[in-house]
Amino acid sequence: MLIGGIEAGGTKMVCAVSDESGQLKDRISLPTGRPEETLGEIAAFFQKYEIEALGIGCFGPLDLDRGSATYGYITKTPKAGWEHFDIVGYFKNALKVPVGFDTDVNGAILGEVTWGAAKGCDCAIYITVGTGVGVGVYSNGRLLHGLVHPEAGHILLARHPEDNYKGRCPFHPNCMEGLASGPAIGERWGKPAAELAGCDKVWEMEAYYIAQAVADYIVTYSPQKIILWGGVMHQEQLFPMVRSRVRELLNGYVHHEMLGEKIDEYIIPPALGEDPGILGAVRLGMLELELRSGDR
Ligand code: ADP
Ligand code: ZN
Repeated sequence: MLIGGIEAGGTKMVCAVSDESGQLKDRISLPTGRPEETLGEIAAFFQKYEIEALGIGCFGPLDLDRGSATYGYITKTPKAGWEHFDIVGYFKNALKVPVGFDTDVNGAILGEVTWGAAKGCDCAIYITVGTGVGVGVYSNGRLLHGLVHPEAGHILLARHPEDNYKGRCPFHPNCMEGLASGPAIGERWGKPAAELAGCDKVWEMEAYYIAQAVADYIVTYSPQKIILWGGVMHQEQLFPMVRSRVRELLNGYVHHEMLGEKIDEYIIPPALGEDPGILGAVRLGMLELELRSGDR
């Protein structure tokens, strides 16, 4: 059986065809232009295969409420041409297969829960610190949506005492995305984040912010694994700094070996390398097919 997946990002779209064990058979990546420039090429890629279902992990915000008239739409985005765009409807119509749909970060945690570092977990989160900050939440065996879907990248943080940077979120002066995303690092220090590897102060401040968010997610979601990734986490020195600061912040309050001697196995990069998002999208397609055929 073949399943299609799309990791739909604001800058690029990764598309793949996979079998049901997550073995990718073919993939393409193309820049995200306007829908009418990009989607025809994607549909043509999938039309070369007999896929049974498609899954889309998509940049948001999204309407994930199956009871809503605009279920399957990208909602309020500044991205030209994509606001109120019915992406699920487009592919249902073009490919005539069931289409699973969720946020890009929920797709990524689903990939890791199915085939990666969070395999077997009931509760796990995926945090990406890149151009933005996003958090995918898998809770009690399913992806968390709730009122809309979690937007935990906008969690409010206490400022580092030496940080005078104004923040880059237009909505919140003190949120994680505004203070800790890759572009925020670049703007604060006057150089792209990737060129600041040797500057200890940069990463001490970054770990200060990431650890606050992680500690808050631990006390709220109680995840069994925390997968941290995105461009900024390519600075791998951040992992031990975040782990040790998380322990300081929790201050012994949450008792578990994962927060003690096993913390190196708890706050970790993905096991699927750069592919949790695309594999999670494939899994979204499989779950939609099961739902349609009454297995779930
Ligand atoms: P996106 O969030 O757009 O999906 P990424 O997760 O790759 O993509 O994040 C890209 C951002 O991550 C860049 O804008 C840059 O600020 C930051 N970044 C990329 N590479 C590095 C690196 N090696 N070290 C630190 N920051 C990086
Ligand atoms: Zn914000």
